This record gives sequence, structure tokens and C-alpha cells, in this order.
Amino acid sequence: MAAFDVVVIGGGPGGYAAAIRCAQKKASVALVEKADMGGTCLNTGCIPSKALLASVHFLTLARHASLMGLELGEVKANWGKMQSRKDAIVMGFRKGVTGLLQANGVKVYEGRGIVGPGGKVKIAGIGGSEEIMAKKVILATGSVPIEIGSFPFDGRTIISSTEALSLDAIPASMVIIGGGIIGCEMACVYAAVGCKVTIVEALDSLLPNEDAWVGALMTKELKKIGIDSMAGQKVTGVAVAGGGAKVSLASGTVLDAEKVLVAVGRRAVCDKETIEGLGLKLSGPAIAVNEKLETSAPDVYAIGDAVGTTYLAHGAFMEAEVAAANACGEDERMGPYYLVPRAVYTFPEVASVGRSEKKCAEMGIETYVGKANFRTNGRSVAHNEGIGEVRVIRNAADDEIMGVTMVGATVTEMIAAARALIGSKEKITEVCFPHPTVSEVLKEAWEDAFGISLHVPPRK
Ligand code: NAD
Repeated sequence: MAAFDVVVIGGGPGGYAAAIRCAQKKASVALVEKADMGGTCLNTGCIPSKALLASVHFLTLARHASLMGLELGEVKANWGKMQSRKDAIVMGFRKGVTGLLQANGVKVYEGRGIVGPGGKVKIAGIGGSEEIMAKKVILATGSVPIEIGSFPFDGRTIISSTEALSLDAIPASMVIIGGGIIGCEMACVYAAVGCKVTIVEALDSLLPNEDAWVGALMTKELKKIGIDSMAGQKVTGVAVAGGGAKVSLASGTVLDAEKVLVAVGRRAVCDKETIEGLGLKLSGPAIAVNEKLETSAPDVYAIGDAVGTTYLAHGAFMEAEVAAANACGEDERMGPYYLVPRAVYTFPEVASVGRSEKKCAEMGIETYVGKANFRTNGRSVAHNEGIGEVRVIRNAADDEIMGVTMVGATVTEMIAAARALIGSKEKITEVCFPHPTVSEVLKEAWEDAFGISLHVPPRK
């Protein structure tokens, strides 16, 4: 029977990163994957959604060409070509991940991995099952879209983000239930290609995890690109009939839509037989872990969506580092989760890191918020991307930077730099930012947090 130092279950960002890192640390490693290599992120999440968002971004730029002094004529979306481009991108990266695993000497098993006590891993594949042995196991089994019991997914009219990424044709209309990250990103894709999109969000605003100004600004900006949104509204039922659906709200309003996308979050998953076999302690649907990402079973770690911490690929990457180190005999612990940046790839984008203004208020921290906007930034205006704002949140008592929140065209690319500010008490004047760059808005907001920005007028 083949035996390995580490067996990883699941080939998403958490699983493949953990496998490669363990191999780099000279462990013998196997990875078991029952579906496509790359997990949700690569196959039905981050990457295909970004490919479609990139296509519609180009479309929008082309439609605005006259503002730039260009005459392009009529510009149209070709949904079939957008889809095949997206699929080719996914396929390319899938091959890439498989190749990386191979290059690092990771043995890949195709099938469902079922972990039992004493390091036994059964692999149930298409052609039968086999057993391998592991000294350490890392569970990286991911998550699935949350279904609403009274109107479950049917894959045709009531769909999850998985189907929304691969519809055969552009629907005439779509109601999106949930104004979180997936809801807002998919709304941007479909609205740009001519679908009438309405988002229904149960809480008070879109992107309710961010500060209220973000939701207010996004509601206004999404409206400008044709996306209606209704916040503070509960959906009471969805009735499928005649090639579409009627979506009933608690307020009595009924919305007609060809497709209903349910985007109300994701739920951690782990194989039932593994949970039972190992007697794994759960926290809700997620596998319970400690700071070292150890589960309740000896020599078994868990990471990524399966532990329900961030539901973010880059959160899984961070957890993979810690679990891989520990599985290889080191002693690592996860850092604080509020330092994992959040990034939403809408038009405009949203990104944040650290503590929000509302979190600081809940913690009883008095803050002073530095603000700067993109409309006074030379490069942003030259790009016709003057929408949005950066806020840097300073603890008024001791000057510590608590958090940064940004809305604007390319803020997802700037949030890693903003991450470096969190916890610092430094004024930024000595840090040289190239001019003109969009990133100067971060410097302005940082300086404004100390009341010393050159380009933000003094506050009254
Ligand atoms: P989410 O948690 O971001 O948003 C779900 C939204 O649905 C929330 O705003 C919630 O208030 C709302 N909601 C819940 N029940 C509702 C109901 N019955 N009616 C109306 N609204 C309701 O979840 P998501 O957008 O589904 O995304 C799933 C996960 O995938 C998230 O954890 C997200 O972080 C991750 N994801 C990340 C990215 C990214 O990083 N760019 C992109 C897509 C998904």
C-alpha cells in the first residue's frame, strides 16, 4: 500500500498550495481530488468570473471610446466567444496547477478521498477504490453555494453562481437574491451585456459587511450601469412557470425574471464518512480547527472554505502555509483574520483590509478617518475613472492605522499595499509614490488621516 508523509484531500487553492508547500519541505505528498483540479476558485469561482468581468470591462471601455476621442462604431458582446475565452483561461490554469503538482513530485489521485482513523485514506474512483496511508492529513474540501430550502436550485431557472458563469445565452432578465460579493459581481457581468438585473438584499445595503458609505456609493454606481437594487427586502417565494419565475417579496412586490440567481453565501463541506470516521468536531457546517489548523482528530488538519473562516481563496492560501508547516513538524499559528484583505471586482471595485469604521465603533475605538477621492487624482481622471474614494481609519487615541477601505476602478490591486499600513503609526510623507499613479489616492487618504494631505482641503 502506498504511504505518504502528507495526504491532502481537495485540489482547490488551499489543497494544492498545501501539497506543493509540503513537497517543497521535502515531505512525500499525495493529493486526492474528485472533480476538476483547482477547486471552486479556478473552475467555478474567482477565475471564470474575472474572465467574464474582464470581457464586459472591455465592452464598457469600448462603448465609452468617444469620450477618449476615438470612433469605434458599434460594439457588441458575443456571449459565446466570451464563454469560450473564459473556458480556455480556466482550462489553461487547470493544466498549470496539474503541471505544478507534478513538477513538485506530488502524486495526484482522482477520486473521492475518505479519511479514516490511523492515517487510512480510501480513494473511491471511477474505476474502483484503493487505499493509501498518511502520517498527516490536510482536509481542504471546500464549500458549496447555500440553497434556500423553500425554493431550491433547479439548475435552469433558479441557479447558483456555478450555472450563472456558464449560461448558454444572455437572459432577458435576472433577479439576484443576495447583494454580497457574488451578487454584485455577477450583476455587473449581466447588466453590461443587456440583461435587466435586479438585486434583492435582505440587509440594509449592498455589500453589508463593508461600511455603510460603500453600500450607498455602490447602489448609486450600479444604478448608473443599469442595475436596480432593493435592500432591506426579504424574498418570500420563487414560483417557476413558463420559462421564467415570479419572485415574491415580503413587501408584496412581485418581480418577474427569466433567471433567479441565489447568491446568499457558501457553506463549508466535508465528506460525511470522513466526519464520522474521524469523529471530527464541527462548528456549524465547518470543520472546527484551532490556531494551528489542527482538527479534533490527531494528525489531521483542515483549511480553506471547509473551515468556514474567510471563504476566500487567499484566506485558504494563508491557511495552507500554516497547515503545511505544522504537518511538516514546524510550529506555526494563523495570524488575525482581519488582516486578510477583501476584494470585490465590481465597477467600481471595492477593497478593504483591517478594521472597518463600524467594527472600530463596536470595539469602542474613537477614530479619525482620512479621506481622498479619485476625482482629484490626475491618472484616474485621465483614465476616465474618477469615481470612488479611499478611507484610512486612524485610532484617534494612539495614531494606529486600524483599517483601509477603498472604492474605485483598480483598488483590488492597491489593497495589498494598504495592508502594510495596518498597525503602523507612521505618517507617510517620507514614502515616495510615483506620480501620476492611481495609488497616490492611498497616500492622500493616509496623510489626511493625520490632517496633513497636500491635496485634500483642510476640514472646517
Ligand atoms: P456573501 O456573504 O458575500 O453575500 C451574501 C449576501 O446575501 C449577504 O449580503 C446577505 O445579507 C444576503 N442574504 C442572505 N440571505 C438572503 C436572503 N434570503 N435574501 C436576500 N439576501 C440574503 O456571499 P456570496 O456573495 O454568495 O459569496 C459566497 C462566498 O464566496 C463569500 O464568502 C465570498 O467571500 C466568496 N466570494 C469571494 C469573491 C471575491 O473575493 N471577490 C467573489 C465571489 C465569492
